[in-house]
Amino acid sequence: SPALALHGIGLRIGAATILDGVDLTVDTGSMVGIIGPNGAGKTTLFNVVSGLARPTTGSVELDGRDITGLSVQRRARAGLGRTFQTSTVFAGLSALENVRMAAQVPRGHSLSLLRFPGPGDPATTVAYERLDEVGLAERAHVRAGDLSHGDKRKLEIAVLLAVEPSVVLLDEPMAGVGSGDVAGLVDVIRRMHRDRGCTVVMVEHHLDVLLGLVDKVAVLHFGSVIAYDSPVNVMENPTVQQAYLGASA
Ligand code: ADP
Ligand code: MG
Ligand code: MG
Repeated sequence: SPALALHGIGLRIGAATILDGVDLTVDTGSMVGIIGPNGAGKTTLFNVVSGLARPTTGSVELDGRDITGLSVQRRARAGLGRTFQTSTVFAGLSALENVRMAAQVPRGHSLSLLRFPGPGDPATTVAYERLDEVGLAERAHVRAGDLSHGDKRKLEIAVLLAVEPSVVLLDEPMAGVGSGDVAGLVDVIRRMHRDRGCTVVMVEHHLDVLLGLVDKVAVLHFGSVIAYDSPVNVMENPTVQQAYLGASA
């Protein structure tokens, strides 16, 4: 079964149709990009998949299991991880402390029971490993709020990896990242996919970066997937050019 399968996801808020029958299948081990104009429903779709929003219609399958009714926490335990469009680090904690909190989750502690483990704790070891994976080992004791924006985004990925997800949703990971930090962040995402075997679904407006990374691209427009194909085919698709690429040119 695919890593992720969305079947007819609809979401209405009042009179507004935010998502309008989204079907999407993501193969295990693949990397998929989601593009579309601002307001198309990309973040809302991630909210539905991660359990922050309930769809009006449709269902979500993770590794062949229907997770539509599960809480955010249960989805996380089932292997689903996500990052957010805006930064979510705990600014007052060190980089290490940020990752260490997350590192306790797969070890059976619920989020409400998090404690602060000491230097010899297994969560501390895992936290250092994850920081090393994203190239932040030397900044482990820096206050997260004092990191550059690019390093904050890397820290968010280290936090994500600490929960040992099999499927990750990245919402605009490059947003606001300075040009000098883009290559490093791309490398972190590539390694998360290649070395950790994560299935990656990524919303990203930097098309030059996205198209070089992903196997397939889904184009969301007014809450519907209007194309889902290889990067080359999507870019050459006249409907996509008219709906999205032309509009942004
Ligand atoms: P994208 O991430 O593609 O830019 P969003 O998913 O953030 O788009 O938003 C899609 C549409 O849904 C927008 O028109 C937005 O204003 C609307 N929307 C999102 N969340 C809510 C909400 N909680 N209540 C009302 N409208 C919402
Ligand atoms: Mg937006
Ligand atoms: Mg968004």
